Amino acid sequence: MAYDFDLFVIGAGSGGVRAARFAAGFGAKVAIAESRYLGGTCVNVGCVPKKLLVYGAHYAEDIGQAQGYGWTIDGATFDWKTLIANKDREIQRLNGIYRSILVDSGVTLLQAHARLVDAHTVEVEGKQYTAEHILIATGGWPHVPAIPGREHAITSNEAFYLESLPRRVLVVGGGYIAVEFASIFHGCGADTKLLYRGELFLRGFDGSLRDHMKDEMIKKGVDLQFNADIVHIDKQTDGSLLATLEDGRTLEADCIFYATGRRPMLDNLGLEKAGVALDARGFIAVDDEYRTSVSSILAIGDVIGRVQLTPVALAEGMAVARRLFKPEQYRKVDYTTIPTAVFSLPNMATVGLTEEEAREQGYKVTIFESRFRPMKLTMTDSLERSLMKLVVDAETDRVLGCHMAGPDAGEIMQGLGVALKAGATKQVFDDTLGIHPTAAEEFVTMR
Ligand code: FAD
Ligand code: NDP
Repeated sequence: MAYDFDLFVIGAGSGGVRAARFAAGFGAKVAIAESRYLGGTCVNVGCVPKKLLVYGAHYAEDIGQAQGYGWTIDGATFDWKTLIANKDREIQRLNGIYRSILVDSGVTLLQAHARLVDAHTVEVEGKQYTAEHILIATGGWPHVPAIPGREHAITSNEAFYLESLPRRVLVVGGGYIAVEFASIFHGCGADTKLLYRGELFLRGFDGSLRDHMKDEMIKKGVDLQFNADIVHIDKQTDGSLLATLEDGRTLEADCIFYATGRRPMLDNLGLEKAGVALDARGFIAVDDEYRTSVSSILAIGDVIGRVQLTPVALAEGMAVARRLFKPEQYRKVDYTTIPTAVFSLPNMATVGLTEEEAREQGYKVTIFESRFRPMKLTMTDSLERSLMKLVVDAETDRVLGCHMAGPDAGEIMQGLGVALKAGATKQVFDDTLGIHPTAAEEFVTMR
């Protein structure tokens, strides 16, 4: 049977664009539909604008610290509107680049909502298109618990477009987005409280890192409230918000920001019509080659909920394009030792096993830890300290995990990700000469 396209991709985010443009490059006839914004979450309301806001928030500390180096910066002020307007301009530029990438690769771009009709048919704006393979890459959407008054809360989607910086912010959640946005709001000058329902935030990260981040964020002035959860939100007559907590306390704020996880974006996607099944968590169920319960329909990225990170969606998109159209280059995605960073103030980053995971998995571990004041801060009044930690298998000497909190943690961790992928032992770390004077050299000098 002749189809209109070899591959029809739904969603032009990280995973969809990668799959579409590489498939087209391999000679396939490809279409992609995007209902909202080119580049998806990462480019529009995720990694990229978030990192720009983190850079913006960091200047408060940088300006203060510059005094120790002889600079006098009088009358420094911050304007949220300028930050947001410049961020918007940069995102528009990136949207244009994404359009060119797709068009120049020969991909047919449809800027509208798409939904499945059957195993080989997609409908866009009332028109039906057939394809041998259909790829769902529709990403995710913030989830806010169903509490009374949740309509008064915002999520990361809206935070990127706030017209002014709220004076008092309550951030709810204890994961990546909560910690990053608490840092952004605080750095930009808002009175910021972070409310987390458990004992200690950043669940899943190494215990030492979590404790360290707690201490550092408190030192910086973020009000961390653990074992705290909002049960309802009321809007007051003056426009401010009143959050009532489980323990009966009330907190007033101008903005309540929820970062309580993300759900797959499945709205009006026609999954039932096409017979595509979900897994127990509500994400699209796929096999290890990203086939859904309907074998001609594939799914990748946040919508399958494996690891919700852009490089993972990119790798999955690449794997699909190669398996279908360049099988000789096909490699399965390796989900082990994925480096990751939280772009908070301070930054934190990690690769491999936490100490807790290593012990749970039965390893006898040796731990190397270093805590120190970053050199750049020694001539300032900052009390910030960095943490570096190695988790080593005592039997084989292999480094199982690297963890860091401190300036440039993400930049440093990328290189260590290569070392762990290569199976480096602690001896290899020890045999590697440091780059002096850097913070990174600490990772090869811990004894
Ligand atoms: P998305 O990028 O979400 O793309 C899906 C696209 O599909 C969207 O453009 C959507 O509009 C479109 N779509 C949905 N339904 C339809 C439909 N029916 N028809 C047509 N189009 C449709 N990851 C990192 O690695 N590093 C970070 O620093 C980082 N920071 C983040 C910060 C925030 C605030 C958030 C929310 C996420 C962040 N992430 C980060 C996660 C990262 O953005 C996602 O993992 C990544 O974007 C997932 O890519 P995807 O292709 O699966 O989906
Ligand atoms: P996370 O899964 O990281 O964190 C969700 C947080 O919300 C957890 O602390 C969780 O608590 C809490 N939570 C969940 N449900 C409720 C509830 N009903 N009431 C109160 N608290 C609740 O999700 P995020 O939204 O922060 O981010 C989504 C994903 O996006 C991340 O997991 C990550 O993969 C990706 N991302 C990556 C970034 C990066 O690479 N720098 C930055 C931002 C996002 P508990 O731990 O108790 O379950």
